Amino acid sequence: MTKDLGKIETVISEKRIKLHIFEPSQRKIWTVVGKEKEYWIEPVLNFCSCESFYFNSIIGKNDCYHLQSFALAQKENKVEQIKFSDDEFSDFISGLVSDL
Ligand SMILES: [Zn+2]
Repeated sequence: MTKDLGKIETVISEKRIKLHIFEPSQRKIWTVVGKEKEYWIEPVLNFCSCESFYFNSIIGKNDCYHLQSFALAQKENKVEQIKFSDDEFSDFISGLVSDL
C-alpha cells in the first residue's frame, strides 16, 4: 500500500495524468503515462487498460493505481490538459490502441 501511494504521488507530481480534448466536438480521452506505456483511462466506466486493472477485474475489483491517481489528480486539479483537433481523433485512438 505504501508502495502504491508513492507511485500515485509520482504520477501526480510529474503530471502524468493527461486529458486530451478534441475540438470542436469536445470529446475527451484520459490517459496516464506509465513507465513503459501510456494507458487509457475511462473514469466513467471505471476502466484502465493496464495489466493490474485486468487482473484485479478478474477478482471483481475494478481498480489500479492509475485510477486512484486519476481520482486524486482530478480532486487536486492536476490533470494536464492537451487540446487536439477532431481530425486527429482517429489517429490518436489507433496509436493508443496499438500500444496496448
Ligand atoms: Zn491502470
